[in-house]
Amino acid sequence: MEYTSDFLKNYGLSNTESRKQILALFTNSKGALAHADIEKNAAVNFDRVTIYRTLQTFVEKGIIHTIPTADNSVLYALCKDACKEGHHHDNHVHFICDICYTTYCLDNISIPSVELPDGFKAKQSDVVISGICKNCG
Ligand SMILES: [Zn+2]
Ligand SMILES: [Zn+2]
Ligand SMILES: [Zn+2]
Repeated sequence: MEYTSDFLKNYGLSNTESRKQILALFTNSKGALAHADIEKNAAVNFDRVTIYRTLQTFVEKGIIHTIPTADNSVLYALCKDACKEGHHHDNHVHFICDICYTTYCLDNISIPSVELPDGFKAKQSDVVISGICKNCG
């Protein structure tokens, strides 16, 4: 996904400085980002609330999706084109590297469907695999 000044407009969002900066961090990152990464790496210092609201807006609009982690924090990563406002289609496996701590979206690896017992309905499933990534292996 390439960032252009029309990108945010296409999602019905105005080009605020925080949205532009935070979007740029995602498009320049090879892995998922935590709130703290954004706070640390944004060219401008945004307060926590601004970052939080911007991330929420991006999630609602289908620009980024969330990835759960073992320590209950949340990571964020760019969505592919299929995601729409209020409707995510991210059905891919995530991979976290034990050495560089990068979390990758394995976009081409789908989460396998799991047979549930009678009476159970799945709402969401997340698969996070840990190991050693190709840059560290
Ligand atoms: Zn999505
Ligand atoms: Zn690695
Ligand atoms: Zn992902």
